[in-house]
Amino acid sequence: MTSSERPFLNRRLAEFGTTIFAEMSALAVSTGSINLGQGFPDTDGPQEIREAAVRALRDGRGNQYPPGPGVPELRAAVSAHQERRYALSYDPDTEVLVTAGATEAIAAALLALLEPGDEVIAFEPYYDSYAACIAMAGGTRVPVTLRPHEGSFRLDLDELRDAVTDRTRLLLVNTPHNPTGTVLTREELAEIAKLAVERDLLVVTDEVYEHLVFDGAEHVPLASFPGMRERTVTIGSSGKTFSFTGWKVGWVTAPPALVGAVRSAKQFLTYVASGPFQYAVAEALALPDSYFEAFRADMLAKRDVLAAGLAEAGFEVFRPQGTYFITTDIRPLGESDGFAFCRALPERAGVVAIPNAVFYDHREAGAPFVRFAFCKQTQVLEEAAKRLKAAW
Ligand code: PMP
Ligand code: GLN
Repeated sequence: MTSSERPFLNRRLAEFGTTIFAEMSALAVSTGSINLGQGFPDTDGPQEIREAAVRALRDGRGNQYPPGPGVPELRAAVSAHQERRYALSYDPDTEVLVTAGATEAIAAALLALLEPGDEVIAFEPYYDSYAACIAMAGGTRVPVTLRPHEGSFRLDLDELRDAVTDRTRLLLVNTPHNPTGTVLTREELAEIAKLAVERDLLVVTDEVYEHLVFDGAEHVPLASFPGMRERTVTIGSSGKTFSFTGWKVGWVTAPPALVGAVRSAKQFLTYVASGPFQYAVAEALALPDSYFEAFRADMLAKRDVLAAGLAEAGFEVFRPQGTYFITTDIRPLGESDGFAFCRALPERAGVVAIPNAVFYDHREAGAPFVRFAFCKQTQVLEEAAKRLKAAW
């Protein structure tokens, strides 16, 4: 939809149409295609966690407004998770905030922390809600482009340093990174942390794919670096880790002054959400390490199936070290416009994918890249690969 077709939409949001995820999922339904576009699993999370949600509903826990910061059980579980995985300690009463998914956490953090005109540095390609939320908060986004280098998309630390100005208020980081699958290394994160401390920047770090890292890559929270705890808002979500994207249970961990700010904005967005599911997610976070290991191993196997299929079909594959997305380059197929490619793909191959260009300010930099999600059953991935191979 163009802006002239949305005459009432204000200037801040005029550039943002319908999200690509809604558009592409609708296209998948209307064409009966395999949907490797929007990132949601086609298998629900653990049965015992579903039962925990049912029990909460039946027992009347969370059927009325839960407490604004989230139910105590979930705040305690988030705090214990950060301690167990990363030795990061957050007080469940003053340093944890439950949100309506990571999406609300991002929105509330940006609305709370930015003054109009503040610059926000985000790595391009960036998750689509970042740009819209920066705009809603009246901020100015300053993209730093991740560029292909030896098989993965990498950050240029000099470019990042050069992007900081006197107006920069906040770094918006995402690792593991959607859509490229890049996992920032300990060394890169240390440099980012150094820069944030030197220039006295706030950091919002979206770590929703923290449990999806492969090939020996390691997820290191930015908050764990020297000088970072006090300036960092860390965002997590149950949607990806437990395969319940519809439950919309996310969280923020940060020191009290930052959590307080984010809560001020959050209370006027949803106030609260997902009451009974909060109790179930508290149980999920306490699952033994074997759950997280099995989940990761399963996704790794799926990654390998789809990566091999895409390579065989002729795509250049950027093998992701994290997330459940594979970014490809379509130029080896003789194509160069990811938008046109993705709009034609359902008809041509019965498969839906996402054009990475939507995640760029510099659209031309993202034009030939297309993202496929592999959080699907193996036979679905195999069928998609077969169709793609037959189409070229
Ligand atoms: N951040 C990133 C990088 C994502 O890919 C997503 C999509 N799950 C979100 C945030 C939103 O997460 P949620 O579904 O918990 O709102
Ligand atoms: N995070 C998911 C993705 O990147 C989709 C979330 C959404 O539909 N907004 O595909």
